[in-house]
Amino acid sequence: MRTGFDPAVRLVEREYVTNPPRMKTSTPNLPRAGKYFRASVASSAAIFSGNGFLAGFLGAPREPFVLLGDANTLAALERIGVRAQSNDVVVNLGAPLRLDDPLVERTLPQIPRGLDHLVVVGGGTLNDLGKLIAHERGSRLTLVASCASMNGWISPNASIVRGGNKISVPAVAPAQVLLDDALLGAAPRDLTAAGFSDALSGLFACRDWLLASRADLAPYDADVADGVRRSLAPLGAALADDGFDASSSLATLIDALLAGGLAMDAAHTSAPASGAEHLVAHAIDLHELARGLPPTLHGHAVAAGSLLVAALWDIIAQGGFGPPMPLSADARIGALCTWLPTMTAAAPFVVRAKLTREATRAPAIDLAAMASAAPELPRVDRLRGWLTCAGAPTTAASLGLDRTFFKSALLCARDLRDRYTVFDLAFALGVLPGRTDEVLTRSGLFAVCT
Ligand SMILES: [Zn+2]
Repeated sequence: MRTGFDPAVRLVEREYVTNPPRMKTSTPNLPRAGKYFRASVASSAAIFSGNGFLAGFLGAPREPFVLLGDANTLAALERIGVRAQSNDVVVNLGAPLRLDDPLVERTLPQIPRGLDHLVVVGGGTLNDLGKLIAHERGSRLTLVASCASMNGWISPNASIVRGGNKISVPAVAPAQVLLDDALLGAAPRDLTAAGFSDALSGLFACRDWLLASRADLAPYDADVADGVRRSLAPLGAALADDGFDASSSLATLIDALLAGGLAMDAAHTSAPASGAEHLVAHAIDLHELARGLPPTLHGHAVAAGSLLVAALWDIIAQGGFGPPMPLSADARIGALCTWLPTMTAAAPFVVRAKLTREATRAPAIDLAAMASAAPELPRVDRLRGWLTCAGAPTTAASLGLDRTFFKSALLCARDLRDRYTVFDLAFALGVLPGRTDEVLTRSGLFAVCT
């Protein structure tokens, strides 16, 4: 039996939300995204999802609040006819690119004391900024999602750049998440494409989660993994349809992103939504940070990671493994830190912790056999088709990255986090490092466009 669930989850069914002004909340057994989970889901946030309800929701008589956004998200809100009331305080941050401590310090003085409800309209960066500000001020937090680009809405954590690394810090979970199709559907196509990629990566993340449970006896919840997979089935079907249209699949995408967030909440780990493909995305983040480059959208980076991982699983599924070439701890640490120097402090701990478990780890060949009996993954060609259909990048060049970077990702990204993934399995099976070039070619990331 699971513990730590909050049965008071209040997800709203779509048909209720389209009928303001009074919101009816569903019973815990009838949540929209929760339909993918057998038991109750875990979020303590009230999640409102529907089409065109924001104006009624924010326009109703209420206490004033602080409305925090940037130039783009506040304008988008206005375009769908949602305006702050005269006694609200609107804080426009311009266009923040990255969430770091200076941004928090710059923003805090702009948030008046005395208003204890903070409403944030934005995507991932602004959401996380709101979580930190609300944490600092003890405010009630409402998130108005301006795009369906990632699945972190309900998480109580924030990703922040600190000391050249991007880390996750505890903040505060929103009390309410408002997902209005009218606003989300008007978001730039790139952002929605990123959401498709982030959602789809759940298939690979859940495979890694299962793998880690078999390899290292990491905690695993089959119901949650099954819920994630079921939430993604309609997304895959929509993307495989010749007549795919992102706007008509928006509700399916929102459901899948919510399911990913709820899965992480229910499992008390990011594992159901973050596997090896997210390690590649993290590496892209660190690479860009070190060079002062503008950040790639999270979902776009995840798309590239997913293509690498799908190619690797395809090759593992073929069998015919060579002898492994074990690397010493020092060699692994040295390789990672040469590639991503800001990992210097953390790398020894990660690598040594993983190596410590080698003595008790299940044999790689058994893990590969287990994987072949696990729920099927999309082959890399199918994934590339889905991503292309969604408008996500499928080449390294479109992300401004080269073959050397992705080669390093295959060889070193496994040690960015202390969690067993397909990268570790590939080394144990002798697929890596020997067949690195084959994986890169199969991923299609270096296809030449004609
Ligand atoms: Zn993600």
